[in-house]
Amino acid sequence: MSKTKSSESVKVVVRCRPMNSKEKASKFEQMVSVDVKLGQIMVRNPREASELPKVFTFDSVYDCNSKQIDLYDETFRPLVDSVLLGFNGTIFAYGQTGTGKTYTMEGVRNDPERRGVIPNSFDHIFTHISRSQNQQYLVRASYLEIYQEEIRDLLSKDQSHRLELRERPDTGVYVKDLSSFVTKSAREIEHVMNVGNQNRSVGATNMNEHSSRSHAIFVITVECSELGVDGENHIRVGKLNLVDLAGSERQTKTGAQGERLKEATKINLSSHIPYRDSKLTRLLQDSLGGNARTVMVANIGPASYNVEETLTTLRYANRAK
Ligand code: ADP
Ligand code: MG
Repeated sequence: MSKTKSSESVKVVVRCRPMNSKEKASKFEQMVSVDVKLGQIMVRNPREASELPKVFTFDSVYDCNSKQIDLYDETFRPLVDSVLLGFNGTIFAYGQTGTGKTYTMEGVRNDPERRGVIPNSFDHIFTHISRSQNQQYLVRASYLEIYQEEIRDLLSKDQSHRLELRERPDTGVYVKDLSSFVTKSAREIEHVMNVGNQNRSVGATNMNEHSSRSHAIFVITVECSELGVDGENHIRVGKLNLVDLAGSERQTKTGAQGERLKEATKINLSSHIPYRDSKLTRLLQDSLGGNARTVMVANIGPASYNVEETLTTLRYANRAK
């Protein structure tokens, strides 16, 4: 349920994952409760049972039973629709490692019920295209990773190569030599994603450690051409950035990083990107603001030992609204 007007360009939602079997076995207490109707997250203090819970309100909140397809239909679909109309859109998953960022973005492979927003967007985009009558579409996919300020093309044959950011007055900031593949079906683009995921893990000695320190960005560019009443072909290009951010626990928790980010960019992006990482910020700066839409999913865990991180994430997400 969303209380945001669809015209608003930044939407922040929170998703709390279920207790995992380890947490259940260790009998950790559940400190987070979710009121889906009110859009509220309540967090109790594990050390002070008599203290009133802290309450945070968001555009939408999702509890541990939330279904991937419900997040997609309520929260992500409108953004992807705007990309199909030629606007830029960015979806971020933010939060501590182990809270469900990758689950939200990619989901569980080969399980239709647990597909994340990335594969669900593939189906959405290609279903839309198959139903269109007077438009011609061209869909391209790129997949990159930023690790310690180095950009790696996850679709390149040479995984030792590092790429550089460049800027052009007409198209803005881009990654020089980034590969991009034209895909003609959901299956084809899914194959591209799988190749990238494989490359991502091949380069890493410890995948958990690696994914908690790196950002993965899947980029879908949708070009639509249509014959106008003037007899000319009109082309619209929309870009969708699907970002699985590094674990938020790696970032410093002082205000300094936000300030530095503001200085580093022309517009005030600190409310959109929680990283002082200059490459991530520069790469996405043209996709934020203006007519572009952004959805940030802040992921949290429910257990008592996570409460500090959970509060940090919720405070950050609150400011991002
Ligand atoms: P992150 O990418 O933030 O480090 P993951 O997405 O890898 O976290 O999630 C950690 C574990 O919790 C995974 O095993 C994942 O399948 C599970 N998980 C996360 N969110 C959910 C959810 N909403 N429902 C069920 N399982 C989840
Ligand atoms: Mg992950």
